[in-house]
Amino acid sequence: MNLSADQLRQKIEQLRALLNQYRHEYYVLDAPTIPDHDYDQLWQQLQALEQAYPEWARQDSPIQQVGAAPLPTFAPVKHRSAMLSLSNAFEAQHITDFDRRLRTRLEVDLIEYVAELKIDGLAISLCYEQGQLIQAATRGDGSQGENVTANVKTISCIPQQLKGENIPRFLEVRGEVFMTRQGLVELNQKQAQRQERIFANPRNAAASSLRQLDAHITAQRPLLFTAYSVVEIDGITQILSHYELLQQLAQFGLPISAYSEKVTGVSGCLAYYEKIKTLRDQLPFDIDGVVYKVDNLAQQQLAGFVARAPRWAIAHKLPPQEVSTTVLAIDSQV
Ligand code: NAD
Repeated sequence: MNLSADQLRQKIEQLRALLNQYRHEYYVLDAPTIPDHDYDQLWQQLQALEQAYPEWARQDSPIQQVGAAPLPTFAPVKHRSAMLSLSNAFEAQHITDFDRRLRTRLEVDLIEYVAELKIDGLAISLCYEQGQLIQAATRGDGSQGENVTANVKTISCIPQQLKGENIPRFLEVRGEVFMTRQGLVELNQKQAQRQERIFANPRNAAASSLRQLDAHITAQRPLLFTAYSVVEIDGITQILSHYELLQQLAQFGLPISAYSEKVTGVSGCLAYYEKIKTLRDQLPFDIDGVVYKVDNLAQQQLAGFVARAPRWAIAHKLPPQEVSTTVLAIDSQV
């Protein structure tokens, strides 16, 4: 169907309004009303239109945004370095393109990656000073998050004091707070007995549980944490790779994923993807994809960032498990 300029502009505006509504429901209310896959499709439609018609692109478009502004009910935390999103790949060809772009930029023939699970929870930043947990914050809009330190201190797998040797003067770690599917079932049973809110999925339950004003409520929720990156580590200079950083975090007592693997080139990434795809249902928690990250830290630095994501990492999404109910009604509206 050929659309007139007015119809195209109308479609772009409708998509922006819809995505903004869904973002509010997901990031602010922790209560999405459409499956993630449908959201991703709408997002891709808008991205393609904004690329094709840059004259109608806008700085405040959902395409440019990370998360949502922090809730005013929490003290704001300015992130020392932005907490960004990840570029998404939905098919193998996107990974081949990603790897080719990176090899050209880094001027190398082959790249070593670390392949990780993309657990479906919410990102947090943990700051440790002299080994002591001093601050925990949500991602918020990427530059400013919510101070959830008191709540995070109730999550038993997150150490309040790092252990081991060579404790850095300062350490900022990022990772995912999440809930297992069984944890959700048990929580919902308790919620039903108390006639309280039932959560649609572990991600919403985890996000809502972490962002409680009363830390006693968070303490009763079965929250888990996995660390997946180090943003700053003072005084430890001999670590040269992301994989080694993860091992160092484990030595400090931080939980890391047992599923992270070093892989070589595109073929290594895609083999990991296939393996995780078959394992997915056996995992006790939800994942929505896997993430490939350049392992060498110097290469990461060289690759740098685009506006809302690092160039040295990409999320490879798994096929949706939820049933699409809303699919792109917007197509019939213009
Ligand atoms: P993202 O899915 O694009 O990726 C970034 C996030 O991945 C990080 O913030 C972190 O929380 C997480 N992550 C998990 N494992 C990781 C690992 N090993 N390494 C690094 N990061 C890891 O996140 P986003 O920017 O919040 O995303 C948008 C996604 O959220 C969409 O793709 C969509 O599926 C979903 N969403 C859904 C709705 C809805 O209404 N259903 C609305 C908004 C967003």
